[in-house]
Amino acid sequence: MKSDRMPDSSRKFIVGLVLLIGTGTMIGWLYDRPLIGALVATFIALVWQVRQLLAFNRAMHTGDFDTFRFGEGVWQQIFSRFVYERERGNRYKNEYRRLLKEVRKSTNAMPDGAVILDEANEIVICNRAAKNLAGLKRKKDRGQRVDNILRDPGLATLLHSHDSTTTVDIVSPVRDGAWLNCRVVPYGSNLKLLLLRDVTEGKILNKMRRDFVANASHELRSPLTVISGYLDTLEGDEQIPQDWVQPIGQMRDQAKRMTRIVSELLELSRLEGSGSATTDDVVDVSRLLTAAREAFRRRPDAPDIHVDIESPARLRGDSNEIESVITNLVSNAVRHTPVDGKVTLLWQSDASGADLVVSDTGEGIAEEHIPRLTERFFRVDRGRARTDGGVGLGLAIVKHILSRHDAGLEVTSRPGEGSSFCCHFPSTRIVINRIHPDKS
Ligand code: ADP
Repeated sequence: MKSDRMPDSSRKFIVGLVLLIGTGTMIGWLYDRPLIGALVATFIALVWQVRQLLAFNRAMHTGDFDTFRFGEGVWQQIFSRFVYERERGNRYKNEYRRLLKEVRKSTNAMPDGAVILDEANEIVICNRAAKNLAGLKRKKDRGQRVDNILRDPGLATLLHSHDSTTTVDIVSPVRDGAWLNCRVVPYGSNLKLLLLRDVTEGKILNKMRRDFVANASHELRSPLTVISGYLDTLEGDEQIPQDWVQPIGQMRDQAKRMTRIVSELLELSRLEGSGSATTDDVVDVSRLLTAAREAFRRRPDAPDIHVDIESPARLRGDSNEIESVITNLVSNAVRHTPVDGKVTLLWQSDASGADLVVSDTGEGIAEEHIPRLTERFFRVDRGRARTDGGVGLGLAIVKHILSRHDAGLEVTSRPGEGSSFCCHFPSTRIVINRIHPDKS
């Protein structure tokens, strides 16, 4: 605890000063000049203090405190306090330097690139992996905007998004065929950490898997077409013995199912290999929904299908793909809803974008299955799916098409009450044409 009491050294200093001036005054008084005696004593005290002050100042400049003596009292106190604080400062500085070295060593040992960015996305510091992976140089690139060095529209959007959960893959600027996964983590006051991870191996494996599925599906297509053709001919042949009619019908159904699997796998491979869907074409979603209702309502087991168009909005994207989304969702809703149920196709929009919603009053889906619905070949009831023609690829295709249109799928469902599949398109994909009265 700090004391308000005057330190001993200060007290001694004042006592010494008073004694000196007192002695000077006494000696002056002996010669009948007390004032001159006091002035002389004060002058001596002042000269001594100035000498100490200059010596201290010189010592601070030269750093050599050993050659100076400050005697007792206040100056000695000031001197030792100064030396103590100086040594403490040096100790902290050394400790800080050591820590900084450790941090630098450990970040340089990291296999992932790490780049600290300021609020203007300018590079503050980066580690060695950032140099190896992305060619960033610690000293040369300091103060440069990272999006001027790593030029990628996805990364530019990510840098402004403040979302640390989203990542983007970019092509490495230093190694041909290499891919980097980028994540931006905001921290502190307006600083960001850009993390770069080499995902080339995963990309290559993914491509190999995609190519394998696409090649295998492609190779299966021709023999299947031949088999289906022969089975179709045999089925219509009246000379076929009666015992063969049923097996041939079953073979034809299975061949049809295999053909569907093959073409849906090929469609998935195509979607996976392509980037973002076009924004040049405009899709009239309300027309596609009405056409889907007309196509499905003719089925004998179809429930009541209702179309609800609440927005004049149109969508920037690929018409065939959006039609495929609608067909898959409506086909599922119709298959999983009893004939006395109801299916509703809704198109609505607001400032955040537009929603295409297919809801039904059918059998519904248990909560634990919902996160897995868009997995390939996932079916809630495998046995039943085989008989109702489902192959478990429809919703995987829907998910890929939606992601190509920057859209997301939200599924809500309650067993026994029905399901709702909502595709949300962002406002950047929406066009609202106000129809001019003269042109309508
Ligand atoms: P499938 O070709 O089998 O319909 P999907 O990928 O389209 O494959 O759907 C996956 C599974 O999700 C289906 O097998 C079905 O169990 C379930 N499902 C999809 N839509 C609905 C729905 N509207 N109501 C109930 N279950 C559904």
